[in-house]
Amino acid sequence: MPVPETKERVLSTLNADGSRRKLRPRLARGAFHWKRLPLGWGLIALFVACPLLQVGGKPAILLDLGRRQFSFFGRTMLATDTVVLMLLLVTLVVAVFLATALFGRVWCGWACPQTVYMELVYRPLERLLEGTRAAKRGSVLPAITKHALFLALSFALAHVFLAYFVPWSELSGWLTRSPLEHPGAFLTMLATAALVHFDFALFREQTCLLACPYGRLQAVLLDRQSWIIGYDARRGEPRGKRRAGGSALGAPRTRAEASLEDPRGDRAEERGHCIDCGLCARVCPTGIDIRDGLQMECVGCTQCIDACDSVMRKVGHPPRLIRYTSQDELAGKPRRLLRPRVVVYPLILIAAVTGFGIALGRSARSAEVTVLRGIGSPYALLAGGAEVSNQLRVKIVNRTSARRRYRIAIAEAGVRLVAPENPVSIRGERSATATAFVIAPRARFVQGRLAVTLRVSDGEGFEQVIPYGLLGPAGTRRAP
Ligand code: SF4
Ligand code: SF4
Repeated sequence: MPVPETKERVLSTLNADGSRRKLRPRLARGAFHWKRLPLGWGLIALFVACPLLQVGGKPAILLDLGRRQFSFFGRTMLATDTVVLMLLLVTLVVAVFLATALFGRVWCGWACPQTVYMELVYRPLERLLEGTRAAKRGSVLPAITKHALFLALSFALAHVFLAYFVPWSELSGWLTRSPLEHPGAFLTMLATAALVHFDFALFREQTCLLACPYGRLQAVLLDRQSWIIGYDARRGEPRGKRRAGGSALGAPRTRAEASLEDPRGDRAEERGHCIDCGLCARVCPTGIDIRDGLQMECVGCTQCIDACDSVMRKVGHPPRLIRYTSQDELAGKPRRLLRPRVVVYPLILIAAVTGFGIALGRSARSAEVTVLRGIGSPYALLAGGAEVSNQLRVKIVNRTSARRRYRIAIAEAGVRLVAPENPVSIRGERSATATAFVIAPRARFVQGRLAVTLRVSDGEGFEQVIPYGLLGPAGTRRAP
């Protein structure tokens, strides 16, 4: 079916006829590029190291889906620790919200694995093999060589990615044994590698523009004071190319400089600093022209700043015609650090970090015990109504890697604890729920309640004391 053509831009990577506009951005080596380079390689090293590095005998970060465990720098959270995981998630989300409100898309441009791998690994390799459209290299290797290298890289990255979900000891087995021994795992690996290859070799910036939910949320996460990468139209406009002689460029010496001349011959003093060279658009990895204003497609990679700075140096104007700024600053309004979201987000962040720290501290104990009431009737009368029995469910999480035996005891004299299984034997990094009955003389209950203390210990240093309120009849015992 023919696609209706439109003069309006729908997406920076879409041609008017609906076909994909393939981007081959040039590289601008400027101050920001030289800062992003070491940071990016440091992050790549960190991405690779996190699942491989051992802390306390466990990978530094491992979301072990098979065992339903999450290891985080020496701490292991089990499936029962949903609160810790939830608080960690809340902390990360609020931190990203705060960082975005203050510094715009600094995550996208500087630290997101999509940008880091794309701009530091895949794109440089492509430029090396095929050159750029603007500057073709003599020895261009066929596209098949590029894709073979990309495939090898994608397989390596797929292993690193999977190492966050499958322990390396297991993953290395997948690598060394025949695929026939583990067809399911082999297919998982193939699918992950294919996905990585599709993303970095073919889909590329479309991931940021179409698939990433964070990118789509920018409109609500940014305010007019947030950092953005912006073009200073008040300084740059009216844009126009320079005329030979009488301009900061002087007479053109190279073809590139000649291209900066204005064929219309406008008066240089009436024009702004933008010489309309288009370099800022040619280096943009998402194919936009930042001079059109703030756009959802801008991932804050800073390439246009570096490109424009190099042009400004050549034409003798001060740098940072394109720079980190804010929408208000571009409109001539003063910077304001204090805004509602910059106050509210840190408060939520402090609460989430505190909660996460406390929950993480609790998960450092070798076991955790929770006492719940039994299902059904809250109590039962025994011995002709002289005694009251409460059914309890004692949930014990064994956080150690070894099997442990937990004894449940009651501290109060005259109160008995009866449990079908006591001590309770639990495998390492597993949990179990034991049923126990606490039987107390009815005469000890005051207004239907009696406070007792349960002790659960493993004989190897762990002991948890749990205060518990027994329930009983509110009235006194009637004479038979
Ligand atoms: S507009 Fe500039 S900062 Fe934004 S993505 Fe393009 S080159 Fe990067
Ligand atoms: S690189 Fe700078 S001078 Fe060139 S078009 Fe972009 S804003 Fe204008």
